[in-house]
Amino acid sequence: MSTISELKELLSQPRQVFITTHHKPDADALGSSLGLAGYLRKKGHSVTVVTPSDYPNFLAWMPGNEEVVVYERRENDAQVRDIINAAEVLFCLDFSCLGRINEMGEYIRHAPGTKVLIDHHQEPEAFADLDYSNSSAAATAELVFEVIRDLGDQDLIDKGIGECLYAGIMTDTGSFRHPSTSRNVHLIIAELLNAGINLSDVHRRIYDSHSEQRLRFLGFVLKDKLTVLREYNTAYIAITQAELKEYDSKTGDTEGLVNFALSIEGIVFAAVMIDRGQAIKISFRSVGDFSVSSFSRDHFQGGGHHNAAGGISYERLEPTVQRFLGLLPQYQNRLVTAPLAVAPP
Ligand code: 5GP
Ligand code: MN
Repeated sequence: MSTISELKELLSQPRQVFITTHHKPDADALGSSLGLAGYLRKKGHSVTVVTPSDYPNFLAWMPGNEEVVVYERRENDAQVRDIINAAEVLFCLDFSCLGRINEMGEYIRHAPGTKVLIDHHQEPEAFADLDYSNSSAAATAELVFEVIRDLGDQDLIDKGIGECLYAGIMTDTGSFRHPSTSRNVHLIIAELLNAGINLSDVHRRIYDSHSEQRLRFLGFVLKDKLTVLREYNTAYIAITQAELKEYDSKTGDTEGLVNFALSIEGIVFAAVMIDRGQAIKISFRSVGDFSVSSFSRDHFQGGGHHNAAGGISYERLEPTVQRFLGLLPQYQNRLVTAPLAVAPP
């Protein structure tokens, strides 16, 4: 972990700054990027935020959204390469290995500027010059708040920046219910409230702004696609490309599905496998001791956090499901439901 004075020194004069985050940015990825961008612009730096791919519409309210460059659009390749090479400081937020952002990762690896990593995933790759990652943080936005505070600039966190950071913390803690929701998290939220954020607006924009079609898709998935395997305390969902198409599924529409599978009483391990065409993208969640980041790393080229991870499979959907099912017996003794502790009388 680097010291904050190194970053302070780096940012002591106006810089060309590049900020990026992971593929298919979620609220923590985009919120920490745009929160940091808002702050750095206030400090007089020239900032470009580039996302590797598009992101859900329910994040488009974040201040700075209009200026985000989406790399995935091929016509942006040369422009993005120029931005990366011209950057004096390159911030990588909410991802821990460059391989997760494909070609752009290689451009960053070879870029001449100073690379700064702010992240909360396990097992970060050692590519950054300055590293502020901490896998016990609930969200990258929590770390961005601390970096700004430790640079002595908490008073620059206004409503707009604060709401970006709040969105990241709110979603990565599952609305303040995951075990990562520490005292520190709540103290930071108190500071963000002081800065003027409206937390019910943020909640509504993110959770209550879905299309009717998305809700019907959810209904279909829960009724027809959810499989519960009681002998493994596991539930999973596998979705084909045709099903995505039938419900006109948009980026972000499948987010949160995995949590429904995990919400069944007694279930400790949940997986959602989605055929995205080039590959099967998998989300894993668990409660308790079973580590989905290890499971994903060992079998599906993935990683993430102890209770929330993702991975990928280059087989078709059905063989992927079969491989997943074939792995469960060897984990059976670890897939146990821990009883909730009851307060002593
Ligand atoms: P999600 O299921 O929401 O896509 O991802 C859950 C967590 O796992 C997130 O923190 C995400 O960054 C991480 N994650 C998702 N997919 C991958 C992957 O393919 N590789 C790694 N290393 N982490 C992933
Ligand atoms: Mn995150």
